Amino acid sequence: MTDAKRDDSAAPPNFIRHIIREDNASGKFDGRVVTRFPPEPNGYLHIGHAKSICLNFGLAQEFGGVCHMRFDDTNPTKEEAEYVESILEDVQWLGFGWGEHLYYASDYFEQLYGFAVRLIETGKAYVDSLSADEIREYRGTLKEPGRESPFRNRSVAENLDLFQRMRAGEFEDGAHVLRARIDMAAPNIIMRDPTLFRIRKAHHHRTGDAWCIYPMYDFTHCLSDSIEGVTHSLCTLEFENNREIYDWVLDALGVYHPQQIEFARLNLTYSVLSKRKLIQLVAERHVDGWDDPRMPTISGLRRRGYTPEAIRSFCERIGVARRDSMVDFALLEYSIREDLNRRAPRVMAVLKPLKVVIENYPEGEVEELEFINNPEDPSAGTRKVPFSRELYIEQDDFMENPPRKFFRLGPGREVRLRYAYFITCTDVIKDDAGRVVELRCTYDPATKGGDAPDGRKVKGTLHWVSAAHGVPAEVRLYSALFTEENPAECEDFRSCLNPDSLELLTDCRLEPSLAEAAPGAGYQFERMGYFCADRDSRPGRPVFNRTVTLRDTWAKIQKKQKK
Ligand code: ATP
Ligand code: MG
Repeated sequence: MTDAKRDDSAAPPNFIRHIIREDNASGKFDGRVVTRFPPEPNGYLHIGHAKSICLNFGLAQEFGGVCHMRFDDTNPTKEEAEYVESILEDVQWLGFGWGEHLYYASDYFEQLYGFAVRLIETGKAYVDSLSADEIREYRGTLKEPGRESPFRNRSVAENLDLFQRMRAGEFEDGAHVLRARIDMAAPNIIMRDPTLFRIRKAHHHRTGDAWCIYPMYDFTHCLSDSIEGVTHSLCTLEFENNREIYDWVLDALGVYHPQQIEFARLNLTYSVLSKRKLIQLVAERHVDGWDDPRMPTISGLRRRGYTPEAIRSFCERIGVARRDSMVDFALLEYSIREDLNRRAPRVMAVLKPLKVVIENYPEGEVEELEFINNPEDPSAGTRKVPFSRELYIEQDDFMENPPRKFFRLGPGREVRLRYAYFITCTDVIKDDAGRVVELRCTYDPATKGGDAPDGRKVKGTLHWVSAAHGVPAEVRLYSALFTEENPAECEDFRSCLNPDSLELLTDCRLEPSLAEAAPGAGYQFERMGYFCADRDSRPGRPVFNRTVTLRDTWAKIQKKQKK
């Protein structure tokens, strides 16, 4: 892969870049660029968040600005420190840093309280004592305007008193809320006196029990952006209607005003990208935790063997638009395959072993054959792989009655063992049930290294592992977690979980160099795909996850689309 080609594919449209260029030209923010990534710590990050991370941190880098890491931690009941830790780890792993700019919305609670008091004092906010159901009922619908709450015209003094007592813990959850006083007939329902603060007597993972009222997203977000001097506040399209309240709050208070810009969220085929649904998969044990290699979480992709480089190049490729779309999972696979093709050492692993005995090879002899580590990268060098009389090959590489197009091993056929010798199958040994359990073969000593001096050709080249030297291993073959392209369209997304998304192989044999493979290390198992050592590996018993197969389905999809 040439760099020119990479650059080409890495330059899809990004309308936000244009907006920033124009703002810089007009001096709107004095040439400053300050973005932020503002997750709510209520779950692990997924590949959709990676899009937002690459966008926010990437633009800041590109324009010599900064990107703030900010936790939008205003919902005490769903948030946990574990999520904060995992989010910080994932952002760093993706290759981004926030320097000294790590913030928590909860650090602004006192300031936000002060802003709310100011709104009350200017008649722009009031304490409402309707119940949640009544508030909903009073709100009206898209077709009908809402009705004003009977508490809407409380005096400033009464509002200040009630709000102060809400903070002091005098009332139970739901007894009162603080609302903006805007317009109950606004065409945008969000503007019908949105709630700014609510009572929630819950322990917060950072502020503990200091607060029993918590600010709502629409109040917190814009003011956090303002406090931090953010210039471009990028969020996904579902917040388009919230832009009006974002602007209203900042204008009502007359504070510094960042620009909210919406972009399309990432949707990925055969995946769900909603924390709420991902939490369900974890809690109901459909998967083995947040970092299950089938999960579209950053931690799951990492455990699956994805590299930060591959995820970043995927995020560049998909671009940033204002129209919602569905990205093919095959494009994500293309990105990791491209990266690993350049970097991953090639090794031999037999996943479903079939024993081969080379009858004319001397018993007890071992040859160390030289293997090229990565044909794409000469600097990766070579290694020695032991060859002996008894080997394992892949069960699928032998057929007793092979059809014409099968170029691998069969009775009386000759094939090449990778970098070793030509062998010919002379006999097939079966068990009582008629299953092939062992092959007897002969080898041609003149073909050492894999070529015949007489120019004789063979069509098949098989990978193999010496039986005496092979390392027993477990290999986990993953495929799509869902059977439907868009699980969100299923009545219950859990009903289209793929029952075969994990195939567990417990009797694999790897070449000896893999005995101590470090968790996270990625390899190409020749002919089988890209694999990554799992953290479940134990000394002498490696465990590998299949990252991706070798077949490039993305190229095929593109060809079809061009037709
Ligand atoms: P979810 O719907 O999965 O719960 P969220 O939007 O509630 O996601 P947040 O923690 O609030 O999750 O998201 C942090 C940032 O990541 C936000 O700016 C949000 O817009 C962005 N983000 C979340 N999901 C996606 C996605 N699928 N594609 C792009 N950006 C996303
Ligand atoms: Mg959210």
